[in-house]
Amino acid sequence: MICTTTRKGQDCVFMKTSGCSYTGGTCLSAVETCMGCARITEQESGIYCTVFPDPSIKWKLGNCNMATHLKTEAAADKKKINPLKASKRK
Ligand code: SF4
Repeated sequence: MICTTTRKGQDCVFMKTSGCSYTGGTCLSAVETCMGCARITEQESGIYCTVFPDPSIKWKLGNCNMATHLKTEAAADKKKINPLKASKRK
């Protein structure tokens, strides 16, 4: 349903006809580690995540799995390996 409170105009699963059903009746601001992520949205009341109502939870146990601004170690390792040299090693 389209949000009419904190992230006005954006689709949200927590928005109900009775209002925002998330804890406290609103989503929470993005945290510092979110800066640079493409899923951030700026509203009059602050900066929010378009995917999670409480971004700090996504960073409690490590990196956010939906972050767009992080490079994975596997992707970084792939760049270092020269496929031609790797095939000669075999
Ligand atoms: S997807 Fe993750 S990193 Fe991106 S804004 Fe949301 S919580 Fe932050």
